[in-house]
Amino acid sequence: MAVPAALVSETLSTLPGDDVRSVMWRLEGRYDLQMLIQSVRQVARGPVARLVAEGARSSHDWTEQKNALLEHYDACGATGVFMEPHQGGFLEGPKNLAMALVAFELAWVDAGAATGALAGHLGLSPIHERGTQEQQDRYMSLSAPAAPGEDRKPWRGAFALTEPIPYVGVDTGMLGGKVSVARWEPGQEPVLKVEKRGRFITNMGFANFVTAAVDSADERIKGTCMVILEEGDPGTFDRGTPTKKLVHQLSSTSDPIFSLEVPASRIVGGYSVKDGVIVPRWSHDEIIAAVFKHTRVPVGVMTAAKLLSAVEPVIRYQRGRFRGAQQARPGSPRYDLGLQVREDVLHRLVDVWATGEAAASLGFSTSRLFDELDPLEKVKFQTLQEKGITGRAELRYFKDVNARAVELVKLRAKPEAERDAARVAELEADPLVRYAILDSAGAVLCPATKLWNTGHGATVMREAVALMGGYGITEDCPGFLGHKWMDAQLEATYEGPEAVQRRQLSVCMQNEVFLAQLDAWTKELRHIASERPDTGACNLASAFVLWRYTYDHLQVATDATGQKLYQGPRQGVTFALSDALAWLMAARSLVLDVVELEQKGAENAVLAEGLPGLVRFYQDLSHVQCARASGEVGRICAELVYGYNKHPEWNADAQQACWEARELDELEDLIPGIGSCAKDVIEAGGGHPDKAGPCAHCSSVADFAALRMKLDQCLTGARLAKDRAAEALSKVMIPEALDYPV
Ligand SMILES: Cc1cc2nc3c(=O)[nH]c(=O)nc-3n(C[C@H](O)[C@H](O)[C@H](O)COP(=O)(O)OP(=O)(O)OC[C@H]3O[C@@H](n4cnc5c(N)ncnc54)[C@H](O)[C@@H]3O)c2cc1C
Repeated sequence: MAVPAALVSETLSTLPGDDVRSVMWRLEGRYDLQMLIQSVRQVARGPVARLVAEGARSSHDWTEQKNALLEHYDACGATGVFMEPHQGGFLEGPKNLAMALVAFELAWVDAGAATGALAGHLGLSPIHERGTQEQQDRYMSLSAPAAPGEDRKPWRGAFALTEPIPYVGVDTGMLGGKVSVARWEPGQEPVLKVEKRGRFITNMGFANFVTAAVDSADERIKGTCMVILEEGDPGTFDRGTPTKKLVHQLSSTSDPIFSLEVPASRIVGGYSVKDGVIVPRWSHDEIIAAVFKHTRVPVGVMTAAKLLSAVEPVIRYQRGRFRGAQQARPGSPRYDLGLQVREDVLHRLVDVWATGEAAASLGFSTSRLFDELDPLEKVKFQTLQEKGITGRAELRYFKDVNARAVELVKLRAKPEAERDAARVAELEADPLVRYAILDSAGAVLCPATKLWNTGHGATVMREAVALMGGYGITEDCPGFLGHKWMDAQLEATYEGPEAVQRRQLSVCMQNEVFLAQLDAWTKELRHIASERPDTGACNLASAFVLWRYTYDHLQVATDATGQKLYQGPRQGVTFALSDALAWLMAARSLVLDVVELEQKGAENAVLAEGLPGLVRFYQDLSHVQCARASGEVGRICAELVYGYNKHPEWNADAQQACWEARELDELEDLIPGIGSCAKDVIEAGGGHPDKAGPCAHCSSVADFAALRMKLDQCLTGARLAKDRAAEALSKVMIPEALDYPV
């Protein structure tokens, strides 16, 4: 491949290891998390990989061998990661980053294993987020792995929201599960009857308890709620038949049937009795909103892990492809480089790698954000409770908080010398202001992670499979790439398919506090670009500007029939814009991580020596990703801005606006060359160019055209970056063999 030597002076020498990840994902100094990574990795690349290699994925049933993995998850800390130390866990404080790391390590080998290890936490999540203290202590402690010397089996939980047709889906407004009062003796705890049929419920093959969403079927119970069902409750606890999954076969899934009697104290979060009616403290959708706020991030991280795990097997395959053939003698380029003598395989692998990095950066930065947000959320909760603020009053209260949050975001975006430092300190001292900022960002970043990492990730995972040729779609493919491709579709589906994430994005991205941050991030990217032009940050900043222009335009624009464009039911508009935003969020996260690598890498003794080459390579990946993101954003925004106008036809009105050939001939004497500038010229006989109609002018969006053109021009250098990254891939040293069985 012809890349000028000057462009590749320093680059990647070996595949990045934990030291690189530690810096980029801010794990430096987090020895607890680094130990967790190592112990989970041993399980992933040991028992899990062996089971996959032995063909365990070819059965749907929850077999003895699969069941044995649960004890490995307990032993390595994957199941205990969710609990507080006093409940049998080992990590103090928020655990979002820790859970994402567990998901990453297990999904590097098999995402079903990751799901199997983490689904218990999903079952516990309603209790963790909204349960009473007694509920929390009971179920967390029961679910914690047994301590040394303790003789008990940990409980396993499942989460049952989705129900069978016709009450399917995570559209939480639809519920078929019912709760009624079975018995209610005076002065006694009411006994409830719960009827629920679950659909596709993870962990159901062995769960000891289930948190299930149900609706009232009794006038003595108000609204909806979630209830905790236990295996030993009187009635039917039928696990149902296993789902014949094509994916994630290392997790257990089935369609259970529950018909049980439980005490009313099993209502998650408790209840009160008003005028003889049981009023659950939390409705099922309030609980689910709190649960899904975090739990979708590790799912996105799973797909990221798979993309990054594909790099090494693909390089090994490409390099060795022709070895053994007569035409490929040792020492020849074909022998040494195999397929890598060709540019295409390298470029495509660069795309896979860059996508994986961006997905991981997005997932881990969002996990970190939630770790910061969690304690603030508790403060918010307490503050509102103390003030007795609920429902719509909360919205009113937050009007003022949000205004101050916007002020703080704007102040922080100013150069330090121009900031009112005292005011910044004052605003920063208010936990609710900090909460509003982080919460509005998290509400966008969580669905963006789930949507982009899994949806676009699945498409790119296909590319990784394609790079292995026929081998890619065999069970023998090193790194199990074919399985990983297929599995990615489930990650894009469960905990809400793409539509659910887009719907959340299209609402949350309208938050003024988020939009203020978006503007601040644009400035930040320009600043990064001024110091590190090779990151692609400038290109990305232009894409941010184009997105913002389009967003503002769509708020007021109408289509050719006069209908408003940005409105809930118009998913063609809002969902497309959500997709574009997710591209931006992912590329931005990678840029920030690459800056971190450059700034902090030197402090890490292992990295310091080869740092310039490493940073150069990562900047190239980032540049490639920014270019790809801005291309997508440009395309989506252009379709939205232009696409809802009716294209002009050759009718009388439109022709009126065109030049006539006669007029041009006359003007040519005065302004030589004018004829060649006019595109739509009507001939003397009324003839016109052979196309749909005169070119659309869309003069009302001339600014958009200028921004779009600028964005395209900002791609300058992106392909050079790709060439450099590709060249690096053809030279990087890889280990002799993959470190897990194939
Ligand atoms: C292996 C596996 C494990 C699972 N584990 C669990 C579990 O543990 N607990 C649990 O409760 N559930 C679980 N599920 C269920 C899972 O969450 C749902 O299958 C998933 O959320 C999709 O819902 P659905 O199947 O009803 O599809 P639907 O909601 O019917 O979606 C079908 C299509 O319609 C689109 N769509 C849906 N709603 C809209 C809308 N409003 N606007 C536009 N488009 C829309 C979707 O994007 C999708 O393309 C699991 C599923 C599987 C396959």
